[in-house]
Amino acid sequence: MENEKIIKFYEILSRDFKIFAENDNDWEANGLSDTDFKSLVSVMLSTMTHTKRVITAAVALYEVANTPQEIVKLTDEELIELIRPVAHYNRKTKHLKEMSQQLLDKHAGKVPRTEEKLLALQGVGRKCASIMLNFNFGGNIIAVDSHVHRVLNRVGILKTKTNEQTAEIINRITPLKFKKHAHEWIIQQGMNTCTARKPKCSNCLLVTICSEYKVVNKTN
Ligand code: SF4
Repeated sequence: MENEKIIKFYEILSRDFKIFAENDNDWEANGLSDTDFKSLVSVMLSTMTHTKRVITAAVALYEVANTPQEIVKLTDEELIELIRPVAHYNRKTKHLKEMSQQLLDKHAGKVPRTEEKLLALQGVGRKCASIMLNFNFGGNIIAVDSHVHRVLNRVGILKTKTNEQTAEIINRITPLKFKKHAHEWIIQQGMNTCTARKPKCSNCLLVTICSEYKVVNKTN
């Protein structure tokens, strides 16, 4: 039964949502993922920040510095000014400089391709590592952020308390054929329909399988 539910979940999402490469993609159009290094920096900038603000900061930054060598040459003050549109710009400045230095010291300036080595970089958490492995290095890995975590729990695919728990279980139970694009479909559902506040249940594709549909609708 539960297996049927997860398959139905992915069948509905994959039928109705495009993958990022098929959408008008501001991220790609603005060069945020032109290179592995820019992808990594862009994802690090994106934590807790709306995409528009990430693009503003990333475009300004990449006009000045888009390699580890160029990032470490910036002073903290210069880097802060460039990435000020994103949340936690002070902490991200520190992480970007330390991460860039680690790449130069340990990886010949290249972004490593294993989860273990990615997670050893300053400021790179599991979501960031999963996105790199999924989108840049061809891995079938589902990156989990708050949107993905929320949707999976509301629909009733999982009952988890943290993004980490969600990532561990959803990567284990998702059939392989859905893993490559699962993050893209679920995040669109979370950002556009199953929003944190006031989910749009009346327009939702998942009403027939959603465990929270009636609960959430009482408060709508
Ligand atoms: S029915 Fe409502 S709570 Fe369930 S997935 Fe859709 S928007 Fe979210």
